[in-house]
Amino acid sequence: MDAEKYNRSVTLLCPTCGGTQFSPVSPDNIESELQKCASCSREITRDELIRENSENINEHVNEIKKEMTEDVANELKKQLASVFKGSKFIKIK
Ligand SMILES: [Zn+2]
Repeated sequence: MDAEKYNRSVTLLCPTCGGTQFSPVSPDNIESELQKCASCSREITRDELIRENSENINEHVNEIKKEMTEDVANELKKQLASVFKGSKFIKIK
């Protein structure tokens, strides 16, 4: 199964203004935990940002779970179908 297609980006929103543009507070450290909102200049850590957006993220996770369950079911059906399709061609040597 191709896990790549379950990748999706969740837009993290600023809890203060709903802005979506963030930049690291220290420009020399792009991996900086502390992010700054471009709209309202609120400084927030990445963890905090994720926590503030957890409802939004959970929605995506549930969606992915549902999709995966459907895909697994379809895959099983396909495999079963091919097993039954091939059965009449089985010859005993
Ligand atoms: Zn903001």
